[in-house]
Amino acid sequence: MVPGKEQYPDKADCTESTNSRHTEVNPFDLAREPLPVPESARTIQTSIVHRLELLLKGSSAWACDPAFQSAWQEVLSLTDCYQEEIVKHARRFATCAAGCASCCSHWVEDVNSFEAEAIADWLLHHAPEKIPAIVDRCRRDGAALSQLQALVEARLAMLDPAEEGAEIDPTDLLLASFYRLRKLCPLLDAGSRSCLVYPLRPLTCRMYVSFSSPVKCVPRYADDSDIPTYLFDLEEEADQLIDQLHFKFMKFEGDTGLRSLVLKYLEQGEM
Ligand code: SF4
Repeated sequence: MVPGKEQYPDKADCTESTNSRHTEVNPFDLAREPLPVPESARTIQTSIVHRLELLLKGSSAWACDPAFQSAWQEVLSLTDCYQEEIVKHARRFATCAAGCASCCSHWVEDVNSFEAEAIADWLLHHAPEKIPAIVDRCRRDGAALSQLQALVEARLAMLDPAEEGAEIDPTDLLLASFYRLRKLCPLLDAGSRSCLVYPLRPLTCRMYVSFSSPVKCVPRYADDSDIPTYLFDLEEEADQLIDQLHFKFMKFEGDTGLRSLVLKYLEQGEM
């Protein structure tokens, strides 16, 4: 997800990689096989793991500690470089651009505790006038998700769990149903369609990259396996270290939703 990217250039010096994304390949060529990870990206992955290990050993006791946030920004910058190297190696062209924001209609899950806390802290100090509207939308979207959950459970209860019911993952169905509501993330500025917290946006918002026409990044095409949207997750070792960081700073057990977590941290900050 990249809404607002042009507004906030990334920190890492990936200039060469970024420029080389604009190759002569047909951007709408369909390729469904996983993209290979070149040696250059593996080297970056090793640096990411090293920095995450240092972060875990660090003395920061608060997720908004400037030293922690600065080191986390380095991890994010390296992650951008990792993705760039893979895209460059595959001679692909990412079609994501500022103002698209189709991805931002998802119920964003798998957000780390320290990411949500940093976003709430930033809002409290830099955009307090926006907080009432954000809180209101987070609450309304949370209520919509709860209503959908009841509908999904009722629908699945009507299916034979040994037959068609076994094929459906309740969480996938719930999140896909929410996406179809097309409710924009409360952190998206509706006017500019850019992310209000772009430098701090969660890792999960950075993982999806589309190689097809942006018009196909809408719920109508969500089940179309021909649409080349790639998930650039980090490798397992880095993922595990990030999980450990999440648990180290966790204050709201079991919650990894962007809207629900940011709401809780904002409410906590107001008290
Ligand atoms: S935080 Fe919200 S607005 Fe920003 S990139 Fe993620 S989903 Fe989009």
